[in-house]
Amino acid sequence: MKYKQSKSMQLKYFKPAGNKVLAAKTCLYTNSSDEHFIVDHLPGYAGAVTIACGFSGHGFKFVPVIGRILADLAMDGKTDLPAGFLGLQRFSKLPD
Ligand SMILES: Cc1cc2nc3c(=O)[nH]c(=O)nc-3n(C[C@H](O)[C@H](O)[C@H](O)COP(=O)(O)OP(=O)(O)OC[C@H]3O[C@@H](n4cnc5c(N)ncnc54)[C@H](O)[C@@H]3O)c2cc1C
Repeated sequence: MKYKQSKSMQLKYFKPAGNKVLAAKTCLYTNSSDEHFIVDHLPGYAGAVTIACGFSGHGFKFVPVIGRILADLAMDGKTDLPAGFLGLQRFSKLPD
């Protein structure tokens, strides 16, 4: 959200708090190229390392299911949940 929009929302919804902005900060987050998460084993580590990243600004609400997938991958090497589309293979032909 741009600063001007943010300021007008502040004036509309938080009027009693006054209109003086004390601080503003830009927030950054990581986007994958297709804006889907990356949840997989890290290539080259024989299934010993699992990764979850590239949450593209909408990862927080998926924390419970991502945690389950990561636990499955770490403990069993696979998951029954439909998480295949989040794998690294979709980006390129990577070694297993
Ligand atoms: C402005 C903004 C708005 C968002 N809005 C939403 C939303 O409305 N809904 C939604 O679902 N998601 C939203 N998200 C995305 C969501 O916050 C992220 O997808 C989620 O937090 C990613 O979780 P994570 O565990 O991968 O990373 P993080 O939550 O970033 O956690 C990483 C942690 O690792 C720690 N860390 C980093 N480096 C080190 C180190 N070297 N040693 C030890 N610790 C380290 C950091 O301090 C941090 O605590 C938003 C994100 C932003 C920035």
